[in-house]
Amino acid sequence: MLDPEMLARPNIQRLKPYSSARSEFGGSAEVYLDANENAFGSPTETQLHRYPDPLQRTVKERLAAVKGVTSDQIFVGNGSDEAIDLLFRIFCEPGRDQAIICPPTYGMYKVAADINDITVREIPLIGDFQLDAAAIVGAASEAAKLVFICSPNNPTGNVMNREDVLMIAENFPGIVVVDEAYIDFAPERSLISEIGGFPNLVVLQTFSKAWGMAGARVGLAFGNPKLIELFNRVKPPYNVSRLAQDAILDALENGGTVDKWVTQIREQRSSLRGSLADLEIVETVYPSDANFLLVKFGAPESVYNFLLSENIVVRDRSNVVRCERCLRITVGTPEENSALIASLRRCEKSGGAAAALTEIAI
Ligand code: PMP
Repeated sequence: MLDPEMLARPNIQRLKPYSSARSEFGGSAEVYLDANENAFGSPTETQLHRYPDPLQRTVKERLAAVKGVTSDQIFVGNGSDEAIDLLFRIFCEPGRDQAIICPPTYGMYKVAADINDITVREIPLIGDFQLDAAAIVGAASEAAKLVFICSPNNPTGNVMNREDVLMIAENFPGIVVVDEAYIDFAPERSLISEIGGFPNLVVLQTFSKAWGMAGARVGLAFGNPKLIELFNRVKPPYNVSRLAQDAILDALENGGTVDKWVTQIREQRSSLRGSLADLEIVETVYPSDANFLLVKFGAPESVYNFLLSENIVVRDRSNVVRCERCLRITVGTPEENSALIASLRRCEKSGGAAAALTEIAI
């Protein structure tokens, strides 16, 4: 069986991690004079003068119960973007190693690769934005350390075939990262249940989407305990603030509200899809298992600018490979979605539409 430790960069295998005051003394005492904190307090209502738990143990215990894993299979990060960056720093030797990404996909994989001076090998999605699984496995090499699979994929919105992902995890001799930032909106089951069988599988999730906690900056990585230990070795000692940890514990008490929102967002996604498809300026609305829709317009730039002039901002993805002429639109509240549709109808009737239709004609 593949050992994640052996895939790590040699300097990380040898690394003696920083030992923080709070990780050296994990017990409880009456007087803490070990961490150079301000013992008088903090000038805030919530007292923040003590460092937070570096390993977020209470958060992990609660999460373990919710996700059906053990605490040592969980890494908690400052957003899942932190986990993405750490994966490069743990496994990829700058200037030498490679990562595989499957465009069109989430932009941070390439940016994190570039920051870490890692060559990106692109294996584009095929057909209905599915993985070219054979090509990914075929691209295996000693230098190819990471594969990023986003499911549901941003910006296309579709879930990747589970059998393809598992075939890659089985056959790719490196780390296979499945980014499930949007999994709560999809009918499919998470791949977290598979981490026990695949020591090279990392599943990313986040509190930023369905959980409505983007401002708290908390992301998760699930994997083999040896893999999670590598994350803990490399991460900054106090990477998740006390405020964020408390906020997550609070949120976990209110999961029922999240479930209700997810149901509403799915309903809104479906009605928004129908309303968009009825518009003449819309060419295609792609199916979505996420909380956004990828929409192809005749003239995305005019539509984008028209919406902006009406104080509505969407995401222009028209420069992204295979997303030509597409805007990505997040599903909002019923009021926001109605405002969007009303604005697009005005766009259709106005010069915006005229410009749009002219561009289609060209
Ligand atoms: N993965 C995907 C696919 C995303 O779309 C995003 C956010 N746009 C992230 C990860 C980053 O999420 P976080 O807020 O947890 O850093």
